[in-house]
Amino acid sequence: MNAPAALNPLLDFSGLPRFSELKPEHVAPAIDQLLAEGRATVSAVANASPTWQAFVAPLEDVNERIGRAWGQVSHLHAVMDSPQLREAYNANLPKITEYWTALGQNEALFAGYKKLRASAEFEALSAPRRKIVENALRDFRLGGAELPADKKPRFAEVQAELARLGAKFSENLLDATNAFSIVVDESRTRGIPADVLEAAREAAQKDAKAGWKFTLHAPSYVPVMQYAEDRALRETLYRESATRASELGKPEWDNTPLIARIVRLRRELAQLLGFRNYAEYSLVPKMARSPAEVLEFLDDLARRARPFAEKDVAELREFARTLGLDSLQSWDVAYVSEKLRLARYAFSDQEVKQYFPEDAVLAGLFRVAQALYGVGIAPAAAPLWHPDVRFFEIRDAAGALVGQFYLDLYARDTKRGGAWMDDAITRRRTASGIQAPVAYLNCNFSRPVGGKPALFTHDEVLTLFHEFGHGLHHLLTRIEDLGVSGITGVEWDAVELPSQFMENFCWEWDVLRPMTRRVDTGEPLPRALFERMVAAKNFQSGLAMLRQIEFALFDMRLHFDFDPQAGASALDLLREVRERVAVLFPPEYNRFPNSFSHIFGGGYAAGYYSYKWAEVLSADAYSAFEEGGNVLDPKTGARFREEILAVGGSRPAAESFRAFRGREPAVDALLRHNGMGTAA
Ligand code: ZN
Repeated sequence: MNAPAALNPLLDFSGLPRFSELKPEHVAPAIDQLLAEGRATVSAVANASPTWQAFVAPLEDVNERIGRAWGQVSHLHAVMDSPQLREAYNANLPKITEYWTALGQNEALFAGYKKLRASAEFEALSAPRRKIVENALRDFRLGGAELPADKKPRFAEVQAELARLGAKFSENLLDATNAFSIVVDESRTRGIPADVLEAAREAAQKDAKAGWKFTLHAPSYVPVMQYAEDRALRETLYRESATRASELGKPEWDNTPLIARIVRLRRELAQLLGFRNYAEYSLVPKMARSPAEVLEFLDDLARRARPFAEKDVAELREFARTLGLDSLQSWDVAYVSEKLRLARYAFSDQEVKQYFPEDAVLAGLFRVAQALYGVGIAPAAAPLWHPDVRFFEIRDAAGALVGQFYLDLYARDTKRGGAWMDDAITRRRTASGIQAPVAYLNCNFSRPVGGKPALFTHDEVLTLFHEFGHGLHHLLTRIEDLGVSGITGVEWDAVELPSQFMENFCWEWDVLRPMTRRVDTGEPLPRALFERMVAAKNFQSGLAMLRQIEFALFDMRLHFDFDPQAGASALDLLREVRERVAVLFPPEYNRFPNSFSHIFGGGYAAGYYSYKWAEVLSADAYSAFEEGGNVLDPKTGARFREEILAVGGSRPAAESFRAFRGREPAVDALLRHNGMGTAA
């Protein structure tokens, strides 16, 4: 009954994906067959003896095949979409989701993992395998598998209601965002950039109106707040944005009761599982050990950033007065900041771009990996999904294959936006030896035009280094078991360490200069321009950091020591947090919680801190290279690879960090990199 792999490329796991042959009609038959094999394996191992070989290994094998096949489909859906492929993707996604959900709730599997954990074999397993078993047990428990029968229905009810409320929160926010627009005449458009005006004019025309139409969506809202000289226009948009989905607008879009209900249900969910609050539950699979540790971390950072934020605000107020604004209002902040930034550090992205042709940037990026880890990177052949895509191999000093990656740099209208790294194949030991890992690196840069190489802005160079850092994390692993190999199983609040780490090299003169070449004259980046870029990067970094800390503190306390039954609202809590840390205060009508979809509509509840957390880790790891005086030191590079990159998710990230740095993470390096160092 099995279709021969030769006929369906999605069923061929002998090597690299066969992208050039893959067709939408291959998807359903392959997925149906693989899911049937998955279900058969699940029932077979449920009765097997609970050993690694008889129980875990067959599950890993079959699930890897499902993951690899579906990974190719969702990758193509993201980078090379077509109506037929989208249809195949949407038709098969529910089957895949259902399979993984059923797996996570399978009581026979949970029992099998428990037996394996209790068996004599467990202690004899390798550390990565023990971690895989522990992770499986943890995930079953967090999913409610251990609840007594009389509590399970309520647990499922709470989960379902939370999912509904989260979706409704986002819908309300979107509806409220869409509901507002303003059409203005030319006299009110002064200062707004031409491309934004063009879009605003087209938007008005679409509504058969004369003039320029502005909305609360970021591509319209942000430039108005930054550039519009019409202060009343800025105030109107600010007020509308800051009161979205609140009791100050349409009652049916008011998120206030949803917030109260979500916070209460999350607490109930956590308490059903035996935790005191949702923050404790949320932190179990993360690197941070306790809500108290996170709060202390944020408080410390706030204390140290505060003097710099105060200075930022004082400068803003002073500069505002030179623009004729005697009081600095919330709707003036972005506007005055942009004017001040221009006055101080004026340089254009277009100018910087001339110095970063693609070939020089890629060569510079590969040189960093080569210097740090002693690996060579060279182009190689592989089936590709588009002629623009390139494929590379990483080999060690002895010439052995370490890993491979696809590089898909340019924007296309069949590709989704943003930049991201994904795993195609994960390193593991199989019956026939080591299976080398493979990664997809995807960006949305401009393609080459006019016979010149593609030119990148410095931001794009940072993005490329960032994604390549994720790629190296996946490709330089030495782990031989799927569940904790490469990026698999790495804690959520530590996963950005290797990527943000790589960004640091783009701010290093000695690394950056050799990867620049002015496209028309061949000269390298001038030092003076580089210095201005660095200064612009640190502009208002104190203010920006305090704002992120304010959101993170609000999120953590809301899910930790805030009692939803005690009468105070989430807004009251936010005001209390602001009293403690903020240096700028919004107007009384501001309803920020009602549009904080990261934590109410997305997956960041009691996790918003992780942005800053991972930045501290990456900056502190990088400072080990700075301390040695040579940021490309191969000895430190080798240690970074062994202790951080190679171990994947096989041990706690906190342990890996300590092993590399010889101590706990410290915030000093991050502050210093943001121009907030303390004078020693
Ligand atoms: Zn990232």
